[in-house]
Amino acid sequence: MSNILDGRKISKEIKNELAEEIKNFAKKPRLVVVSVGEDPASKIYVGMKEKSALKVGMDFGHLAFSEDTDEEEIIKSIECLNEDNNVNGIIIQLPLPKHFHEQKLLNTVLETKDVDGLSECNMGRLFNGKPNFIPCTPFGVITLLNRYNINIKGKTVTIIGRSKLVGKPLATLFLKENATVTICHSKTDDLKKHTQDADIVVVATGKPNLLNGDMVKEGVIVIDVGINRVDNKIVGDVNFDEVSKKASFITPVPGGVGPLTVAMLLHNTVEAYKKIQEI
Ligand code: NDP
Repeated sequence: MSNILDGRKISKEIKNELAEEIKNFAKKPRLVVVSVGEDPASKIYVGMKEKSALKVGMDFGHLAFSEDTDEEEIIKSIECLNEDNNVNGIIIQLPLPKHFHEQKLLNTVLETKDVDGLSECNMGRLFNGKPNFIPCTPFGVITLLNRYNINIKGKTVTIIGRSKLVGKPLATLFLKENATVTICHSKTDDLKKHTQDADIVVVATGKPNLLNGDMVKEGVIVIDVGINRVDNKIVGDVNFDEVSKKASFITPVPGGVGPLTVAMLLHNTVEAYKKIQEI
């Protein structure tokens, strides 16, 4: 039976450390979320971010636009936040309604306030090895492994999913940690061929039960990024019952990567605050 990689516990640790640090700041770091539309999951995520931000002693703002708002109006609001010295971190809550230019809005966020790290500028810096901010979910995955003292160097890692939010930046982070990385996606022939010998498998697809017990080796470390609602329950992308019998370490869903994503967002906001004080 596997050891559980307890994302809630590690997230709490990180948030406590941040709260201690914030106590000594002259001002509260301020995080602002920009959301568009009425996506119910996004509302829950924004609520979780607000609760966590306030709990560590940050200020939190939420600019909520309706789906029929003109894109230029949203861009102008982001530009105002860019100029506002009281705002340290800005994030655009994804997904946006289909008719918005997602990357254009992400690119509007000032590089030094882009605490989700999703602007092209920050992505470029990440791939070049000098990120301003590391995207929160991949950062959470690496942090979780590091906090459990799991050695990554020299390991073979298979990531299933190549999105800009998770798979691609995560591959870059694993490379930086000197792992040997394979990235799979929906067009990959024979997924099992790439997972069965991997030391670490990360699944980020949004497809429940994509990774089954017969696809992994004994002792594998499995990180399940997926969040899916099935029969009114939240499940990941991994067949937990099967895979946990073989894995040495595994993340649960919920309670794995999700809480780390929020913790790393707060971490990035504190870093953004500190950078301004250094100028
Ligand atoms: P995307 O839809 O942007 O990307 C999904 C990726 O999975 C794509 O690369 C896609 O391949 C690949 N994929 C889909 N089906 C298969 C398949 N059958 N076999 C192999 N690969 C497949 O999703 P995200 O990366 O944004 O999110 C992935 C999951 O992680 C979702 O469940 C999301 O809710 C969750 N998530 C969780 C977070 C957390 O904090 N825990 C944060 C962010 C996301 P292709 O490129 O070919 O289409």
